[in-house]
Amino acid sequence: MAASFVDKARITVRAGSGGDGAVAFHREKYVAAGGPDGGDGGRGGSVVFSVDENMSTLMDFRYKRKYVAPNGMPGQGKRCNGRDGETLVIKVPRGTVIRDTASGAIMHDMSTGEDWLAARGGRGGWGNTHFATPTRQVPRFAKPGLPGESHDLTLELKLLADVGLVGFPNVGKSTLLSVVSKAHPKIANYHFTTLFPNLGVVYVDEGVSFVMADIPGIIEGASEGAGLGHDFLRHIDRCRLLVHLVDVSGSEGRDPVEDFEAINAELREYSPELAERPQIVAANKCDLLGEGSDNLERLRRYVAERGMQLFEISAAAHSGTRELVGECARRLRELPPIASYEPDYVPPEPEIESAEDLSIEHFDDMWQVEGPWLQRLVATVNFSDYESRMFFDRILRESGVFERMEQMGVKDGDTVCMYDLMFEYKE
Ligand code: GDP
Ligand code: MG
Repeated sequence: MAASFVDKARITVRAGSGGDGAVAFHREKYVAAGGPDGGDGGRGGSVVFSVDENMSTLMDFRYKRKYVAPNGMPGQGKRCNGRDGETLVIKVPRGTVIRDTASGAIMHDMSTGEDWLAARGGRGGWGNTHFATPTRQVPRFAKPGLPGESHDLTLELKLLADVGLVGFPNVGKSTLLSVVSKAHPKIANYHFTTLFPNLGVVYVDEGVSFVMADIPGIIEGASEGAGLGHDFLRHIDRCRLLVHLVDVSGSEGRDPVEDFEAINAELREYSPELAERPQIVAANKCDLLGEGSDNLERLRRYVAERGMQLFEISAAAHSGTRELVGECARRLRELPPIASYEPDYVPPEPEIESAEDLSIEHFDDMWQVEGPWLQRLVATVNFSDYESRMFFDRILRESGVFERMEQMGVKDGDTVCMYDLMFEYKE
C-alpha cells in the first residue's frame, strides 16, 4: 500500500523572539552631543493555524515537524525600529483538533474558518530613546527582546460531516457517496479501497443539503494488522447521523445480520457514545439479491426489532438512494448541530524560581531589574488584563525584589525597568 492515511501528528511550534532595542546617539556635523535615538526591536513572528479547504489529511506534517517563525530585527540608530518577524501560517484541514501534547488538553478546534494564534511572537526590546528624561540625557542602555512562545502540539483530524457512512469494505459506501454527491471517491471491487476519508455535499432539495463522509473501512485494518482499525473512527466522532451500509446480496458470501452486528460491536468498543448515535440502515446491492435469498428479510426483521429504519437500495443502480438521502435530511433537521470541542487547556504559570536572585542595577533614578525567571514572567503576562497584572504584582512582591530595592535606596517616583515593562516606583 503506497500511501497510508495520516490523521494524527505531533509537531513543535515556536514563535520568533523580539529584536533587541538599540543604544545610539544622534550625530550631526557641528552638533556636539546629540540625544539618544536608538530604535526599538521588532516583534518576533507569531505562529498561526489556518484552515485550508483543499486539505483532507495531516500528511504534510509527517516529514516536517518543527515550525519556527522568524525573529524580530534589532532596532537601529536614527530611531529606526527593527522589522517585525513575519507570521508563520500553518495550514490544516478543517476539523483539526489541536492539543497540548504534554497534558492532552484541547487548545483549539479548527472547525470554523477562523485563524488561530498558537504561539505569540516575543515583544521587541525598547531602544534607548525610551529612557531619556530631562535629567537623564545619556542613557547607555536598551532592552533585549523577549522570547516567543513555543508549544509541543498534537494535531488530530476529526472531520466535519453531518452523516458518516459505516460498513464493511466493499459494501458500496464509496459508490453511494459518489452517486448522491459530486465527490469522486475511489471505487474498486477489492478491499482496502478507501484509505482517505472523502467528503461530499449532498443536495437534497433547494436549500437543503448536508455533508456526507465516507471513511476508510473499519474492520479490514484491524483484522489484517494494518494499523488502521479504530483510528478511522475518530472521523465520524462528530457525525450527527450514521448510515450503516450492509451488503444483502450475499455476493461475497457474507451474512448481513452478522456484518451488521460486527460493525456495531466495533463502534461500541471504540466509543459507547458513538454506538448510540442515530443510525439508518441501508441494505445495498438489492439489484443482486438472488431468488430465494432471505438475507434482506432477516436483516429487516433484526433492524425493526431494534427500532431502526431500513432502506432498500442499490447504489450502483441509483435506486432507493433519493429516499435514503431525503430521510437523512429530515432526521438531521431534528438532530443537534455538529459538535465542536471546547478548549480545556489552561496555560501553566511560568516557572518562577524566586530563590534565584534577580539582578538589580541603577543608574541614578533609573532601575533595571533582570533575571531569567523575570524574563519568562514578563514575556507571558498580558498587561492589558487585570488578573494577569495582579498575578505579576503578587509574584514580584513575594520575590522580595522591592525590599532589596528599598535597601539600595530606591525613591518614590524613580523609574523601574523590567525588560520591556517600565513603571514608576511607588512606596
Ligand atoms: P466500499 O468499500 O464500501 O467503499 O465499496 P465500493 O463503493 O468501493 O464498492 C465495492 C464494489 O461493489 C464495487 O465494485 C462497486 O461497483 C460494487 N457495488 C457498489 N454498490 C453496488 C450495488 O448497489 N449493486 C451492485 N451490483 N454492485 C455494487
Ligand atoms: Mg470505499
